[in-house]
Amino acid sequence: MEKYQRKKGTVAGRTTVAPGLVRSGRPALGDKGGEPFMRPSLVEILKCLKCGADDLHLMVKSKDDLEITKGLLSCRRCGLTYLIEDGILNCLVFADPSISAARRVYRRSKEVLGDTLPEMLARRWHMDSAYRQDTEANYRELLSRLDPGQGWALDVGAGTCWTTAGLAGRGYRAVAIDISADNKLELGRQHFDKDVYFDRVLADVNHLPFSNEVFGLSFASAALHHSRDLDSSLAEISRTTASRGRLEIINEPVRGLAEAFQKNTGQLEGPEGIVEKHYGISTWMGSLERSGFKGRCRFPANIRERLTAGSFTGRHKFHFLAGLIARFYRYRPFRSMLEGASFYPGLYLLGLPLIYSGEKTSAKKSPAVYDKGR
Ligand SMILES: [Zn+2]
Repeated sequence: MEKYQRKKGTVAGRTTVAPGLVRSGRPALGDKGGEPFMRPSLVEILKCLKCGADDLHLMVKSKDDLEITKGLLSCRRCGLTYLIEDGILNCLVFADPSISAARRVYRRSKEVLGDTLPEMLARRWHMDSAYRQDTEANYRELLSRLDPGQGWALDVGAGTCWTTAGLAGRGYRAVAIDISADNKLELGRQHFDKDVYFDRVLADVNHLPFSNEVFGLSFASAALHHSRDLDSSLAEISRTTASRGRLEIINEPVRGLAEAFQKNTGQLEGPEGIVEKHYGISTWMGSLERSGFKGRCRFPANIRERLTAGSFTGRHKFHFLAGLIARFYRYRPFRSMLEGASFYPGLYLLGLPLIYSGEKTSAKKSPAVYDKGR
């Protein structure tokens, strides 16, 4: 058994530099001897969920050439232990009925998809193709405007880690969190290659096991609308985001005012047991601002691509209207008006996918005790 110990008072491996300020290329993977070091470096940014101490002790039971596959972390102050299994650190230490219900849904879906190849699941080939194209278009657009970084990046609700892989490929020391390993984080390994590695942590976005202000980039794709408490989730993301760090949110559904008068439009369909919230844009922006983020929405790349190609499908809300608008989209003045002056009114009225780009401008105080009220 091998032991890694965090040196008291060191902040090695930690960076609070906003991404883009450091451009020294990708982080290396394990050294020549095959010694895993990504997981021990993750310990540098971890914090005990129960007592808030950052003095965690790592014990390695088994490892491969990429990462620690089995082991445990224990808090030197309160003694709480966190298991590492199949390379995934489990920080879901508190009982939560809504998380347990969602985990059961993902376990069932894993059974249903039992015959599908993991590499296909990891790339979401089992999902609706229009949904996949739309979410990927917005993700490609995000990657195109991210400076290569080497600071820590958090991918909230990473699912199969397809987005975390892209962040790691851009040089970030990416950490994927999700509430399920089944059909989710366990598929992350499918994305690893000689240039792409990221850590995977089972965690609740309302109780993040990370120290304050460690992430230069916090990111979520179609994840935050699954939170049972948006304000609490964004406050926690804000706590762990570095001052002047970036928050990028893509692919969250936004409810348009016009949807109140329509039947079967914009309804969020999800399996029972999964929290699905459908907020209007003012709720999103209000919560983001209260959490200390300052930013703006961008015109979604997926809508731009579909307007250009005139390729809206029946699964897009207001697709008849969208098809009509697409006919005029090739005229530049119309296009400028649509993406300019009428973008925010459109966002309020029709509810386009949320593409938010912001910066943390004010520090949130960290709660003194993490298990308050439990
Ligand atoms: Zn503790």
